[in-house]
Amino acid sequence: MFAIFKKLAWFFKLRWKAYSIAVGGLVACSILSAIIPLVIGNTVDLMATGTLTWVSLRNNALILLVIGLVMYGLRYMWRSNLFTSSTLLESLMRNRLFDHFTKMDQQFYNKYRTGDLMAHATNDLNAIKFVAGGGIITLTDSISITIVTLFSMFFIIDWQLTLLTIIPFPLLIFVSRYLGKMMNETFRGSLKAFSSMNDRVQESVAGMQVIKGFGEEEDDYRDFTEATDNVVESNRKVNLINSAYTPTIEMITGLTSVLTIIFGAYFISQGRISIGDLMAYFSYLGNLTWPLLAAGRLMNTMERGNVAYDRIDDLLSQEAKVQTPVGGTDQLPFKHLDVNIESFTYPGASSPALKNIQFKLEDGQTLGIVGKTGSGKTTLFNLLLRYFDVDQGEIKYDGENVKDVDLTYLHDHVGYISQTNLLFSTSVRDNVSFGRPEMDQDGVEHYTKLASIHDDILEFTEGYDTEVGERGVSLSGGQKQRISIARTLAMEPDILYMDDAMSAVDAKTEQTILTNFKAERQGGISLIATHRISSIMHADLIIVLEDGQISERGNHESLLAENGWYANMYNQQQLEQKITEGGELDGTI
Ligand code: ADP
Repeated sequence: MFAIFKKLAWFFKLRWKAYSIAVGGLVACSILSAIIPLVIGNTVDLMATGTLTWVSLRNNALILLVIGLVMYGLRYMWRSNLFTSSTLLESLMRNRLFDHFTKMDQQFYNKYRTGDLMAHATNDLNAIKFVAGGGIITLTDSISITIVTLFSMFFIIDWQLTLLTIIPFPLLIFVSRYLGKMMNETFRGSLKAFSSMNDRVQESVAGMQVIKGFGEEEDDYRDFTEATDNVVESNRKVNLINSAYTPTIEMITGLTSVLTIIFGAYFISQGRISIGDLMAYFSYLGNLTWPLLAAGRLMNTMERGNVAYDRIDDLLSQEAKVQTPVGGTDQLPFKHLDVNIESFTYPGASSPALKNIQFKLEDGQTLGIVGKTGSGKTTLFNLLLRYFDVDQGEIKYDGENVKDVDLTYLHDHVGYISQTNLLFSTSVRDNVSFGRPEMDQDGVEHYTKLASIHDDILEFTEGYDTEVGERGVSLSGGQKQRISIARTLAMEPDILYMDDAMSAVDAKTEQTILTNFKAERQGGISLIATHRISSIMHADLIIVLEDGQISERGNHESLLAENGWYANMYNQQQLEQKITEGGELDGTI
């Protein structure tokens, strides 16, 4: 049960002053609160014996007032200290987690789903924060109140009465332990159910268009209600036990009260204690109930925190397979690319995604990559960008193995426009200048013009200030692609990788953008994967990928002469183009 405190020891050490003040304040409050029943008991006794004077009443009232004020001050002090500390812990751990996320590779993101990671970053951190704040309060308070109260009952009121009336207490400890354990077990189940529901929401919202497109709303809704039913069911179990907990405790403390009345009355009749003592004793009993009730909640809090901490720790202990080399090269002209991939298999896959891919490119050269979906085009980029490491063979930039190049440096100098264009929920301008935040409006416009998106942006209601994403304008696929292109070009990469980056842009605009590129990029290596052969027909080298291997290679003319897949594809696309153009002319299509 105390495992979580051991795990958080580093933080308590870091904030030992704040915690010492808080714990000291809490203990002082417990001691002060034990004085109150005595003062009230004394007043009752004075009244019962008819010796209450205004002076003694005033003095007792003053004592209560002073105790109240001091407790107010102490409570403020420990609360502010503890809650500041627990918020600090949450932010420290969140930063640690986020920093870790930024270092993780694709394999990690394949393994952990977004919904799960989000649950860690919110729920789990919250649970840990709660231990460091509310958990410490409840623990210190329950222990100190119990000790101080039992001490007062035993030594100040009457030890025999105390012994006789706390007979049901072992039962209480047994019940709270037993129910507490059951509560923890069911709670784990409810956390799990919540996490998987979270995943479902994430997936469904992200894929809503696809779901609708396939008319799968009902199935999706059914799956989702199943997940929520699970959450309800597991929470119902938690609530059932929770509901049994408080009444059980109250019944046992009620039993204590009955014993107190019986033995208390007897002791008064024997002259062992006064009426005031019995009243004070009842107050103490009331004081004891809270720590007992809190014990169950405390176990719950700590268990939750413990599970949450382990989950976060598990994430933090995951090491990225691809790591930036210590002292890696960060001085390269990026004028030569030498690729020799003998074999690459995705982790967990049974067969290689790429085999025997060899080519060399020099400054100013362009490689065109074509091939069916699933032939390995994106995989090739994944390796060139070192999202994964080649199993056999190597990739060299200027003769330097990519594994020896500093990763940040590599990604700063190699521009990649992928098929998925994630834009951030900020202005169009900030999206374009994402990699170079210092860029001014002229700079931004230069690149949006290159990517043929400038005119579109001017038509948005707030031009370059228009928000993109959930709260902003909805963009067409082609517009998103062109903004991503502008964003990558703005980084002025030495090497440019385009992975089917213009699939949603029409052929004419694609040609314009490619012509703009050529004029802009003096030299530089470019790799362009595309479905449209017209976009890469002028490339220096063209490779056709099939099942992860190069099936044809050469330039446009030599590939046409080969009369293989490439020539076939080219002729087919030419025909389609003619039909479209013809259709446009005579309006039949
Ligand atoms: P393309 O870009 O030509 O459509 P990909 O490079 O995406 O092709 O895919 C090549 C092959 O690798 C496919 O069989 C695909 O299923 C597999 N693949 C792609 N990404 C992964 C991954 N992250 N893990 C395992 N297999 C993958």
